[in-house]
Amino acid sequence: MTSDPVQDDVVVIGAGIIGATAAYNLVQQGRRVTIIDRQAPGYGCSFGNAGGLSPGISFPLAMPGIYRHIPEWLVNPASPVTVLWKHLPAALPWLLKFLHEATPARSRVAAEGVRKMMRNSLDDYAPIIAFAGAEDLVHHVGQLYLYSTDEGFQDEQRALRTRTELGIEQRVLSARELREYEPALSDIFRHAIYFPGHGHCSNPQQFVERIVRACVNKGGARLVQQDVIDLRPGSHGVRVRTSGGERLAGQVVIAAGIHSKSLVQPLGWRVPLESHRGYHLQVSDTGVGVLRNVMWAERKTLVTPINDGLRVAGTAEIGGLHAAPTRSRFDQLLATLREVYPDARTEDRKEWMGHRPCTPDSLPVLGPLPGNERIICAFGHGHIGLTAASFTGRAVALAAANSVISETWREFSISRFA
Ligand SMILES: Cc1cc2nc3c(=O)[nH]c(=O)nc-3n(C[C@H](O)[C@H](O)[C@H](O)COP(=O)(O)OP(=O)(O)OC[C@H]3O[C@@H](n4cnc5c(N)ncnc54)[C@H](O)[C@@H]3O)c2cc1C
Repeated sequence: MTSDPVQDDVVVIGAGIIGATAAYNLVQQGRRVTIIDRQAPGYGCSFGNAGGLSPGISFPLAMPGIYRHIPEWLVNPASPVTVLWKHLPAALPWLLKFLHEATPARSRVAAEGVRKMMRNSLDDYAPIIAFAGAEDLVHHVGQLYLYSTDEGFQDEQRALRTRTELGIEQRVLSARELREYEPALSDIFRHAIYFPGHGHCSNPQQFVERIVRACVNKGGARLVQQDVIDLRPGSHGVRVRTSGGERLAGQVVIAAGIHSKSLVQPLGWRVPLESHRGYHLQVSDTGVGVLRNVMWAERKTLVTPINDGLRVAGTAEIGGLHAAPTRSRFDQLLATLREVYPDARTEDRKEWMGHRPCTPDSLPVLGPLPGNERIICAFGHGHIGLTAASFTGRAVALAAANSVISETWREFSISRFA
């Protein structure tokens, strides 16, 4: 005898930053939300990011000219982006799609999408932060991009001009001015750009956890720790099969990060979602005072004041979900941290590697699944999910209310991969 499935109004699969902001917005609409995750909140990709809140990011990764870097990705294991040879055959279709996105016309469309998500990020976050009581975790202190070479700064000029045209506040600093912003920085940096409108989160895992807990404690949401096995849409709702039994949901939001791909595939959608494996080293008791998140542009590596220390994070390694972390990546991060903050103590370290859910055009998949509109997609945020989550949560709640995604957000539809 089979028991009747548990009845849910709306199920959010995934308690990462995307599931958390989606749940917040749904709760605000008066929806009865059930959040399901196989782990505790914030222990997926959202655990280990660099904490950068960067609304001024205005470009996708696939930009014209990117193909010039591919040989380096394949042969130089120290390059900020690498492809593990063993994973190359599996990753090739994704890489070809990525190159296809790097034309001027396609990258312009993607850039529009990136800007839509990013530009109001901190305003969209304000009510979420207040609801979660997370004011102590989010710091509106700006962000610095650092350049150790003249060539590196030269390469930034086009982006600098575009951001000025877009009205993004940024200030070019001399090496001397930079030292006034962050006195502990090494003197290897010859140029810098300061973004007053950016900020950072000093504990990304706890940030997610507080949003989810507030949804439960103030918004009546339920948190269920189970593994979602598959989804079966029907005329009365979506059957959600989990490790704990079956549930029948009025609507389902898929916010399962890199694992979202395997939830939509049985429903007929093959989304090119590839992991860009990211690494961090978290160092406690550094003995240096640091106020802001900084990004060393040539290394594509960020250093952020997190918890009681510094987190140095970065690298995009295309290596699949199953290979062990590459040891040399941690050594590189440690070397970078010592170059950026030469006086920092670095004995007390923790290591982490996680999977950024990346689409070829750097845009997430947002909105109802065509033909199965009770299922709403919210995944594929790649390198910018912490910043883009506040927009995404809003978009999900609107899509859930109308069963359509706004015309102005067309570029995020899953149909682009049909
Ligand atoms: C090193 C690094 C640095 C980064 N730096 C930044 C930055 O500075 N700024 C920025 O904006 N972004 C940054 N990012 C990107 C950002 O962290 C991600 O885009 C974001 O965390 C993705 O969130 P998510 O909720 O989609 O995925 P996740 O956090 O992975 O959450 C998905 C959740 O779904 C659960 N799940 C999956 N499948 C199932 C299933 N079948 N059943 C039940 N539960 C399931 C998982 O357990 C997980 O908790 C960085 C990422 C990395 C790796």
